[in-house]
Amino acid sequence: MATKKVGAAGKFGPRYGKKLRDNYNKIHKSSKKKYNCPVCAREKSVTRVSFGVWRCKTCKTKFASGAFEFREENFKK
Ligand SMILES: [Zn+2]
Repeated sequence: MATKKVGAAGKFGPRYGKKLRDNYNKIHKSSKKKYNCPVCAREKSVTRVSFGVWRCKTCKTKFASGAFEFREENFKK
């Protein structure tokens, strides 16, 4: 169960240790987050498609960036 305290790592229950579950939460959060598009400058438009692939839902541009986090410095126009 994903409560406020345990976050998305709640599905693991008490398993795998606190540190690992905290880490999973951090990565899960940043991968579900919406990011600003560096091409069309639209806010919160870039979402994660798959491992390292991000897409802007407004201008449909695909980006190769971080695996679990969108980073603009990785992206070349
Ligand atoms: Zn865009």
